[in-house]
Amino acid sequence: MTNGAIAAKGLRKSYGDKVVLDGIDLTVPAGTVFSLLGPNGAGKTTAVKILSTLITADAGDLHVGGHDLTADPQAVRAAIGVTGQFSAVDGLITGEENMLLMADLHHLSRREGRRTAAELLERFDLTEAARKPASTYSGGMKRRLDIAMTLVGSPRIIFLDEPTTGLDPRSRHNMWQIIRELVTGGVTVFLTTQYLEEADQLADRIAVLNDGRIAAEGTAEELKRLIPGGHVRLRFSDPSVYQEAASTLRGTRDDDSLTLQIPSDGTQRELRAVLDHLDSAGIEADELTVHTPDLDDVFFALTGGTDQQRSQPTLPSQPKESVR
Ligand code: ADP
Repeated sequence: MTNGAIAAKGLRKSYGDKVVLDGIDLTVPAGTVFSLLGPNGAGKTTAVKILSTLITADAGDLHVGGHDLTADPQAVRAAIGVTGQFSAVDGLITGEENMLLMADLHHLSRREGRRTAAELLERFDLTEAARKPASTYSGGMKRRLDIAMTLVGSPRIIFLDEPTTGLDPRSRHNMWQIIRELVTGGVTVFLTTQYLEEADQLADRIAVLNDGRIAAEGTAEELKRLIPGGHVRLRFSDPSVYQEAASTLRGTRDDDSLTLQIPSDGTQRELRAVLDHLDSAGIEADELTVHTPDLDDVFFALTGGTDQQRSQPTLPSQPKESVR
């Protein structure tokens, strides 16, 4: 497969005067999850619509599943599945009927269609509800049915446009599990989401879309290291040891909780420097934790274009904590 399961170079799209995608480059290796993040109106859905052949780009060298999007959109369509905002679920018929309809669309034989439908309904825990109209399904069940319908065609590449928007936490976690299983099975997932935690949980690589361009791209950890705010926190129980540490290490003191906060990018090198310093001074902390900015911090720092965001400090002084 050329240049990964999905490869875009110089992707452009405008609506009238409005440039939505201003020369986007991205590559998604097969069998990985790629997440496109961006504020509302950034162009995420436009990118999904273009890459899934629903609309055409103004320019760009675009390949999906090894096929050229312009030259061979039919082949692209045969390789992909799309779920999300353009849900194919018909509420008036049952879950099973929805599945059989998809089987017909994919020209499966009657027998093969029934077998595939039953298997997928079982896999997504919909067997019990299979004979009920889809309109009676909960949000989570509808999303599961939607993905099950997409899988009838055995796509190797799946576009998920905000797959968990509006779902309760349990259904969201269910959906994450489903996505992880798809990837384990070798499927490539192109995911857009407004939940940064979702990208953090699922994506191998994340691209942040802002003003029509990719503002940053990398693993969640790489993106978090792009912005300051990370630190090492040392906690002491002995006030005299704390005082000694505070006098030798540059950092922010919290005399009440006997903690010192030392700016750090969270890399091994910086961590080792702190530890070496403590060792050579003969100081032992009771607890050492590394805190990196979370994706929310990254997102706001990279896309801080709205008035609401601009009125706030660009970077939070107290990043959310995660112990590593
Ligand atoms: P996102 O999915 O990131 O919220 P979209 O891709 O839906 O963003 O939209 C990006 C921009 O393109 C928005 O400003 C939107 O108003 C505009 N847009 C999307 N579709 C159309 C269209 N058919 N005609 C005109 N403008 C559009």
